[in-house]
Amino acid sequence: MNLFLMCCLFLFSGMPECESPQQLAAANAMDRRILMAVEQCLDAEGSLQEILEQTRAVLQDRLARLDPAWVQRHPDCRAEDLDDLWTEVQRLEGMQTLHQRGRQACTDTLERISRRQEKMDALHPADAPVYAADPVPEAMIRGTAGLPAAAGGAAEEGSWDAWLSVVCPAFDVSGLRAADAFVHPIPGAYVSAGTWSYPGGGLHLGLDLAAPLYTDVHAPADGVVLYQSAGQPADSGYPGNQSGYPGGAGNSILLLCPVQDRLYSVALYHLSNIHHVRPGQSVRQGDVIALSGNAGNSTGPHTHVEICELTMSLEEAVSYFLDTADFSFGTGWDTPGACSQMACRMRPEQLLPAS
Ligand SMILES: [Zn+2]
Repeated sequence: MNLFLMCCLFLFSGMPECESPQQLAAANAMDRRILMAVEQCLDAEGSLQEILEQTRAVLQDRLARLDPAWVQRHPDCRAEDLDDLWTEVQRLEGMQTLHQRGRQACTDTLERISRRQEKMDALHPADAPVYAADPVPEAMIRGTAGLPAAAGGAAEEGSWDAWLSVVCPAFDVSGLRAADAFVHPIPGAYVSAGTWSYPGGGLHLGLDLAAPLYTDVHAPADGVVLYQSAGQPADSGYPGNQSGYPGGAGNSILLLCPVQDRLYSVALYHLSNIHHVRPGQSVRQGDVIALSGNAGNSTGPHTHVEICELTMSLEEAVSYFLDTADFSFGTGWDTPGACSQMACRMRPEQLLPAS
């Protein structure tokens, strides 16, 4: 533990300051990992203090026995274990000093993380999403329904109605081309968790693609955007954060994508607040639709991908979603690989090519 803490402190002090959003995010990710490791070490501090006090008490007791008068009365006493005790007290005191430095380093690091977050927010204001392309009127979804609270999350006020009633006059998918196969949404990302469970256990209904903040996220196939929200700061994730829609998604996009003769819903969660698409817009396979993030219920920069194969037409799927805002298409949120009357949850790792 001692050596580990020293290594962490060395890393703490060695982090260079960087200025691009990607560098800032990478530095924050590294600082957060070290912070967690150091905090684990510091958790042991309570018992460390206790051990130190006990060892000091034993040492004092033994020192008392070194009093010449005491030794004279106890000629058989041997004092050679005192060296070990001194060494132990010095070691424990050294660890205490190290822990004090660790606590200070944690405080400094938290300040550094929030300073970088402020810089990132300034570079990418949360209320200024960037749109790479205008919506395509011929591929618009006509939207009349409000977005109900569903799937454990609350609707974001006004986002759905505002987009759909203003910019989406009609829904026509005649121009939509079915892709031959999915392409990878984040080439170069690595899989940090697959279906249907996290590496450490616990139900996981999607595929986690770990990639630095603000990595390009591509449309895995031609499709239409059913839903898009970008109301959360890009790097605002933490475990249990229920922001966004569905609850915990942070910033999300839902696509409907025909591939060969099948229709899929593709949900992307924990994105940054930089989105290049709006609901109702058609996208071409490979288009950059957003930049990745670490928003919502997320422990680090990654994109969570969920795919359902739908057993209904695209028009029916749009209509169902407008009525329900149900990202799960009836398959629910508690069963791996569940099927409803209109959809089956798929394993994204079996549909997407290797990154
Ligand atoms: Zn996930």
